[in-house]
Amino acid sequence: MNLLLSAVNRPEIISKLQKEDFDLVIIGGGITGAGIALDAASRGMKVALVEKKDFASGTSSRSTKLIHGGLRYLKQFEIALVREVGRERAIVHKLAPHLVTSEKMLLPITENGTFGKITTSLGLMVYDVLAGVEKVDQRKMLTKEETLKLEPLLNPETIEGSGLYSEYRTDDARLTIEIIKTAVSFGAVCLNYLRAEDFCYDGRGKVSGIECIDEISQDRFSITSKIVVNAAGPWVDKLRQINKSLDQKHLILSKGVHIVISHERFPIKQSVYFDAPDSRMIFAIPRGKATYIGTTDTSYEGDINHVVANSEDVDYLIGATNRVFPTLNLNKNDVISSWAGLRPLIHEEGKSTSEISRKDEIFESPNGLLSIAGGKLTGYRKMAEKIVNLVADKLHIKHQLSFKDCFTDQIRFTGGPFRNTDEVKEYKKTIKNQLAQYNIDEYYAKYLIAYYGKQTKVILDQFQKMEHYDPELRLGLAELWFGVHHELVFNARDFFMRRTGRLYFDIESIEKLREPALNALKNYFNWTVEKLKNEKKELEKVIYEASSFNHYLKGYKK
Ligand SMILES: Cc1cc2nc3c(=O)[nH]c(=O)nc-3n(C[C@H](O)[C@H](O)[C@H](O)COP(=O)(O)OP(=O)(O)OC[C@H]3O[C@@H](n4cnc5c(N)ncnc54)[C@H](O)[C@@H]3O)c2cc1C
Repeated sequence: MNLLLSAVNRPEIISKLQKEDFDLVIIGGGITGAGIALDAASRGMKVALVEKKDFASGTSSRSTKLIHGGLRYLKQFEIALVREVGRERAIVHKLAPHLVTSEKMLLPITENGTFGKITTSLGLMVYDVLAGVEKVDQRKMLTKEETLKLEPLLNPETIEGSGLYSEYRTDDARLTIEIIKTAVSFGAVCLNYLRAEDFCYDGRGKVSGIECIDEISQDRFSITSKIVVNAAGPWVDKLRQINKSLDQKHLILSKGVHIVISHERFPIKQSVYFDAPDSRMIFAIPRGKATYIGTTDTSYEGDINHVVANSEDVDYLIGATNRVFPTLNLNKNDVISSWAGLRPLIHEEGKSTSEISRKDEIFESPNGLLSIAGGKLTGYRKMAEKIVNLVADKLHIKHQLSFKDCFTDQIRFTGGPFRNTDEVKEYKKTIKNQLAQYNIDEYYAKYLIAYYGKQTKVILDQFQKMEHYDPELRLGLAELWFGVHHELVFNARDFFMRRTGRLYFDIESIEKLREPALNALKNYFNWTVEKLKNEKKELEKVIYEASSFNHYLKGYKK
C-alpha cells in the first residue's frame, strides 16, 4: 500500500508537503495537472500537486468521456490538432486497455444533414489517415439497410446511410485518478481538499511557492517550490488574478451538459453522433445500464463552483434526440441523472464558444507563474510534455544526467497493467466466475474491470474479509475501503461521483449503499454525529441536482 494514497494518512502527507522543497508545485488535480505531475515526477523532478476539492471534480469528470480524434475539428480544418489527438488516443489505449476502450461510432447521413455521403466518406477517410487508425478499424460506409440493422432506433424516413468510424471511450475521472496514482508511484506528493489561496514570492518578487488552506481542517500553510504551474482549468484566470498577471489573453467558459437515460428506456445498440437542429452535433452513447446524451455548448457566466444542468439544457438534448430517434418520445421524466461542466477555452475575438479552437496554450507571468489552459482530455500527455520541457528549461536541468526525456508514452498505469485487450477479456472471465459464486450480477464484473483493472483483485480480497452484508452491498463497501485506502477518498461524493461513477451510471445502487457507506466513512475518519449529518446532506444535494428532473430517488427533494 502506498501511504501517500491513503486518506487516513492525511496528516503525514501534509507534513511532507510542508517540509520539502519542491522543484514544481502544480495547482489543480484535473487531467491537465495529473498529466503534468506524472510527466515531471517520472523525469526526476520533485513534484507536489494540490487540488481544492476532489481530483477531477472540475471539468475532468464532466466531459463526454471520449478519448477522441476530434472529427469536429476536421470540419474546422484543424488538421494538426486532429493528427495529434488521433495519435495520442492510440497511446492512451495502449497504456490502459481496460480503461480506454475502442468504441465504434455511427454517423448517420440524412437529407439535409451536416455531412452528405461523399463528404462523410472523404472526411472519415482523412480522419483515419490523420489519426493513424489501424486498417481493421478504418471507416466503413453503410447503406440505409445496414445502418438500420445496426441501430434500429434511427428514423427510417430520413436515414440515407451512414459512416461507421473508430473512437475510444473512457471514464474521465478514473483516468485522472489513475494518472495521479501513477505520479505518486514516481514520488509526487498529491493531495485533494487543499486549496491554493495565494502565492509566495522571493526577495526579487518571483513566485516561490503557494499559500494553502486545508479544506478539511482549515489550517493554513505554505509549500515552497522553484516553479509553480497553474493548471486550474476554468479557475486559471482566478489564480492569474491573485497573481496580478491577468491580461488581455483570458479564458472564456462554455457550459456542456450531458443527460442520462436508463438503457431500458433508450435501448440504443450502438453509439451515434448525430445532427442537432442548430447544426451542432450530439453523441448518444450506451454504457452499461444507461445511455447518455450530450452535449450542449453555451457561453457561461454563472458561478463556476456550482455548475448544473438546467431545464433548457435538458429540453435541448431531449428535443434533438427525439428528432433523430422518433419512436422514443423521451421527456424530462426519463432523465435519471445528468452532469454539467465548463470548457476552459482561450478567448478569440469575434468567435462563438463552439467556433473557438480547443488548442491549449501556456501563459507566463512576469513574476514567473506558468499557467496552462485549453486543450482536451485526449491531449493531456502532450500538454504535460510541453510544459514540463519549459519547466526543465527554467530549472536549467535539461542537460543533467539524471534528467530524462519524456517517456510517459511508455508508463502504464498503476495496479498491474494489461498487455492488450485480449488479456483484459481473459481477466474479465475470471472475475465474472468469481462474482457468480455470490450471485452478483455480471454487470459488476464488467464494471470492476473497466474502472479498476487488475486492482479488482485488491477489492475482491477485501470483499472476502467482510462478512455481514448482502453480496452487492458488500462489494460496494469493499470498493469504498479501496477508495479510502488507495485513492484518497474523503467523502461519499468522491466515491459515488468520481471513483465509481455510480451517480451517473448506476444511480439506483446508491439507494442501498448510501447509509452503510456513510457509516463506514464515519468510522474510517472518526466523524462526529454533526459531521455525518452534514456529509449526508451534501450527498443528498448532489443526487438531487443530478436527478431532480424526475425525482428518481425518493426523498431527495430540496
Ligand atoms: C461538456 C464537455 C465535454 C467534453 N468532452 C471531451 C471529450 O469527450 N474528450 C476530450 O478529450 N475532452 C473533452 N472535453 C474537454 C476536457 O474535459 C477538458 O479539456 C479537461 O477536462 C480540462 O481539464 P483541466 O485539468 O484543465 O481542468 P479541470 O478538470 O477543471 O481541473 C482543474 C482543477 O483545478 C482545481 N482548482 C481550481 N482552483 C484551485 C485552487 N485555487 N487550488 C487548488 N486547486 C484548484 C479545480 O478544483 C479542478 O479540479 C470536454 C469538456 C466539456 C466541458
